[in-house]
Amino acid sequence: MSSIDPACGAKYNTIVGEMAGKPQPLIFPDHPREECGVVAVYAPKGHAARVAFFGLFALQHRGQESAGIASSNGESIKIHTSMGLVTQAFREESLAPLEGDMAIGHTRYSTTGSSKLSNAQPFLVSGVHGQLALGHNGNLINAVNLRKELESKWGYTFTSSTDSEVLAYLLASAPGETWEERVAYCMRNVQGAFSAVVQTKDAIMGIKDPLGVRPLCLGKLDGGWVIASESCALDHLGAEYIRELEPAETVLIDREGIHSFIWAGRNKRRALCVFELIYFARPDSRLDGQQVYATRRAMGARLAQEQPAEGDLVIGIPDSATAAAMGYAHEIGIPYSDGLVKNRYVGRTFIEPDQRLRDLGVQLKFNPLPDVISGKRLVVVDDSIVRGTTTPRVVSLLRRAGAKEIHMRVCAPPIRWPCHFGVDMATRQELIAANNSIKEIEQKIGADSLGYLSVEGLLEVVGGRQNGFCHACFSGDYPIPVQLEMDKLVLERPKESQD
Ligand code: SF4
Repeated sequence: MSSIDPACGAKYNTIVGEMAGKPQPLIFPDHPREECGVVAVYAPKGHAARVAFFGLFALQHRGQESAGIASSNGESIKIHTSMGLVTQAFREESLAPLEGDMAIGHTRYSTTGSSKLSNAQPFLVSGVHGQLALGHNGNLINAVNLRKELESKWGYTFTSSTDSEVLAYLLASAPGETWEERVAYCMRNVQGAFSAVVQTKDAIMGIKDPLGVRPLCLGKLDGGWVIASESCALDHLGAEYIRELEPAETVLIDREGIHSFIWAGRNKRRALCVFELIYFARPDSRLDGQQVYATRRAMGARLAQEQPAEGDLVIGIPDSATAAAMGYAHEIGIPYSDGLVKNRYVGRTFIEPDQRLRDLGVQLKFNPLPDVISGKRLVVVDDSIVRGTTTPRVVSLLRRAGAKEIHMRVCAPPIRWPCHFGVDMATRQELIAANNSIKEIEQKIGADSLGYLSVEGLLEVVGGRQNGFCHACFSGDYPIPVQLEMDKLVLERPKESQD
């Protein structure tokens, strides 16, 4: 059930049914929703689950709906999953029993399947090669067919409505004498994006899909190893960053050492999600050899060259656009300042806001600094506009605080196509730039002017390698063929309507 915000048309969900009693976002931001964070740890001297917990802590920005850890002491795999933030999902009493020197962890935002405990990861499954647990970041676009095949061939009963459980069962039943052969079978049969961590009784693995859409990196820690979605997790754990995994690469770590194999069938195309550099990844992470913070500053500088604005002050929408705003200001020679203060603790809550609080919308999240912005011609830098539901409210908040003019600059190209690789964006009908000209968007958001970064400019900033990145949500050029309108709840629909 949902209600419509009269001011901007944003939908607010009323918590009913299976979602009741689960923490809900207090406000629904107009950003692509992060995907998931994964971590795998081999800690020969210690309790790997504890290290995985702190690794997940550093990856919390990638998913806040549920968290889980699976560990092995060489004899059996133990697992704990729960809803909520990492700190809500784990207490000392839930972490302590996860014994062993190996562990994997996962923090989830749902891109396939709804937010409920049965969809929390890692998944623990049993197949012909014994038990394994798997945590997955990404989206399989042929999950429905794979699941039907696994059900009919092996008689598996799926307990969740996610594509990650499909990947877990596929790997657990893949033919082959070695993990290298079994992973190769999965690479041949799975279409889509996946960076996965796997826990078997005797080993951990990090696996990246053949296009390398989602990040996954390797670090060295105190005689052991860590694999994580982003390098910021390695930094927080005191691990040494070694490198990003290659597309189609599997790193397997067992008590004998570390092994790496790359699937021979991979094609040369690489397609790292460029949105990781724009918005998802933490600015202190390294992706594809680039420090995200520096890349965002460079995007801001390029935006200033392409879309200059006359103003007195540049501000960024905190926190994700801050680096780009600084880059813009430096390039164009206009002073930069904070202009909005973000309440960092607005997140998920069990308490439903009343209508008056709903009407406040973004005001619950951002508070302007009138002494800084009053009477000024503002250049406001944001990282993206998806549906265009939040931006008008930010513009009106800034005007109420005294801004004389508002020139909106967006550090990404217009989003015109949905994502099929693990990012919850919106349907094409909902994307404001898919259905409106830039001038129409400018009017809808109430800005004095609006300018976006170009696709060419973006790709030049991130390395100019046209084929090295996925930029499909801007260009419609998907790195693999997709069915344009996919439904993230497809595996929850009755079987006869899943095609
Ligand atoms: S479509 Fe956009 S969000 Fe999705 S993987 Fe490609 S660049 Fe990233």
